Amino acid sequence: MSSLSGKPLGGAVALVTGASSGIGAATACLLADEGAAVALVARRRERLHQLAEDISRQGGRARVVEADITEPEQAYQAVQDTREGLGRLDILVNNAGVMLLGTALHTTIEEWDRMVSLNVSGLLHVTHAAVPHLIDAAATSPRQVADIVNVSSTAGRVARPSSSVYNLTKFGLNGFAESLRQELLVERVRVSVIEPGTVQTELAQHLGEATRDATLRQVSGIEPLQAADVADAIGYIVTRERRVAVNEMLVRAGDQTW
Ligand code: NDP
Repeated sequence: MSSLSGKPLGGAVALVTGASSGIGAATACLLADEGAAVALVARRRERLHQLAEDISRQGGRARVVEADITEPEQAYQAVQDTREGLGRLDILVNNAGVMLLGTALHTTIEEWDRMVSLNVSGLLHVTHAAVPHLIDAAATSPRQVADIVNVSSTAGRVARPSSSVYNLTKFGLNGFAESLRQELLVERVRVSVIEPGTVQTELAQHLGEATRDATLRQVSGIEPLQAADVADAIGYIVTRERRVAVNEMLVRAGDQTW
């Protein structure tokens, strides 16, 4: 798939949630390299500005959209801002997420709520606001296709102790995405899930000390994926010809058993 600019995503606009670090930041850079203008959505404004500068130094185009997507109004405004500032919306990457591991006995209800409100409700807020624009993009753009890529996890396929609510959010996301895929395929809005294994990001830094140490011990024997590896897979999904729909991609670290 190539555009007038010669880049696969030239003329397209992408919105990436959780763009201030990890997989989201790497994905935003990759999509910009492929020619898309990218809306960078997260709460940490300074990080987003730094990333926007980096993208523009590389010849790309990015727009900072500061938003807490757990707030429905802010999520809605993030999508509107993208439309108004960049003119359209062709690709949504639902990436923002948090993983607060711990057993039911030792996790607080606030931590469970935090995971549900970002990994589920936040994702729904953005998706609901974006769907009409994506349908429009698929009908009117030169690509004749639009994309929603949902960053799930191996935790969306394999349940493990200390991960019950994280599993709930990611298993739930996979079901949501499959239903949405069937709804939107007639509109040529492709819906996919990507399920990364262990990736070296800030994700584990949100854990309490004891759980973080246990988690890091568990993965200490394996070489983790880099955020760019996951971005690469997302880039593959969204640059396929419109006749191709890569609906699911499981990308584990090479020596990860689960
Ligand atoms: P990071 O912690 O590096 O990134 C999480 C991102 O989510 C940050 O950019 C953060 O930005 C954003 N975010 C958090 N809260 C909000 C909010 N309320 N509103 C908007 N944005 C928010 O972790 P990863 O890059 O690893 O995680 C990205 C996704 O990948 C998650 O969905 C995670 O579940 C998934 N994943 C990660 C794996 C891993 O091993 N790292 C493995 C499998 C899946 P800010 O704080 O600035 O708002």
